[in-house]
Amino acid sequence: MDKRSNKELWARRERAVPRGLSSLHHRFADTARNAALVDVEGREYIDFASGIAVCNTGHSDPRIVAAVKAQLDRFSHLCFQVTPYESYVELAEKLNALAPGPTPKKTIFLTTGAEALENAVKIARAHTGRHGVITFQGGYHGRTLLTMAMTGKVVPYKARFGPMPPGVHHVRFPIPYHGFTDDEALAALQATFAASIEPSAVAAIVIEPVLGEGGFYVASPYFLQALRRLCDQHGILLVCDEVQSGFARTGKLFACEYAGIEPDIMTIAKAMAGGFPISGVIGKAAVMDAPDPGGLGGTYAGSPLGCVAGLEVLKIIASDKLCERAEVIGAAIRRRLTGLQAAGARFIGDVRGLGAMMAMELVVDGDPQRPDAALAKAIVSEAAEQGLLLLSCGIRSNVIRFLPALTASDATITEALDRLEKILRARMAKAA
Ligand code: PMP
Repeated sequence: MDKRSNKELWARRERAVPRGLSSLHHRFADTARNAALVDVEGREYIDFASGIAVCNTGHSDPRIVAAVKAQLDRFSHLCFQVTPYESYVELAEKLNALAPGPTPKKTIFLTTGAEALENAVKIARAHTGRHGVITFQGGYHGRTLLTMAMTGKVVPYKARFGPMPPGVHHVRFPIPYHGFTDDEALAALQATFAASIEPSAVAAIVIEPVLGEGGFYVASPYFLQALRRLCDQHGILLVCDEVQSGFARTGKLFACEYAGIEPDIMTIAKAMAGGFPISGVIGKAAVMDAPDPGGLGGTYAGSPLGCVAGLEVLKIIASDKLCERAEVIGAAIRRRLTGLQAAGARFIGDVRGLGAMMAMELVVDGDPQRPDAALAKAIVSEAAEQGLLLLSCGIRSNVIRFLPALTASDATITEALDRLEKILRARMAKAA
């Protein structure tokens, strides 16, 4: 097939695909290997987006590709509800053993992150006999009707798509950088119990241990432990949404391990299969068994391709020591950015994250209350010009997140940070 230009493909995209689906980069991928991506014009990029935290194991790791090819030669689809297969059960067994906490676990597989969240709520409602769901402002859980309601950001996710399904209540996520502490967030939760919904009607509190789309704000162990206690006190299930933070990204297999808590339910997707569409809900066995037979499922849910890829991902995380790599990569990013802060980059208001789930928040003149979304946009675009693909995020759209493959070499990480530093130093010179 003839190679096309990015411009030409973009024009076709605009004619063929609705504008409601946006693409951050106007560059069409041709191939991608590990942390490198080549566009249709032959330009090479270091990919610090990893398909939004999916390719923690890099693009097309040969071990995953081989496992999926071997599975394709056996069968590509049967539907677990019709004819089960061993890889599904084996992946569930492995994840049940790896999930935090001593309580026996069970796991169901679905296809997307949003579907995992939908199922987590169904299971929580069936188990508790309650309807209420509490989520966090700035949280992101998906674009389906219920997960859109759970998502805590109106534009662009909810505007003009209402009414929202009932039963979802938002509370504020603790963000000390914005002047909102853990204790204030716990008080806000109590205020919601007083003003909006009684705790005995709440089935689940759903939290991302590190807010993903919302801006990589890390929930402290203190806050997660307090939520755990509150849930126990009121018979509410604690659901940790590990869709973005899971699978070694933060330096642990799951981010909630930092708090030493045992969630009742965890939702997983993205990096669990290195690029194959599969998601899951892991939970305490008694909770997971609440829905009646036939109540859960989906035609493609737990695809055999995703299951074998997922088994391979778990092997790679262990053999390539990806949790340790996440720490090393995250520390390198942190060092470089805090170094620039110290050198006078006042627009880098905050550098934060866990492991290799790192971000910088951009503000005007070091003031946390003056977000600079335009700067975030400009840096993402300039970085792409320099051959580095970045992603922005944030409640106020002023955060740049760094999500490199955990299999990226030190040389690749250094080269990417050199390119970024060049851009940031040019900004510093302009501001001086
Ligand atoms: N939860 C979290 C924390 C996410 O980051 C995402 C996706 N960004 C989702 C749920 C939804 O996943 P999906 O896009 O696969 O439906």
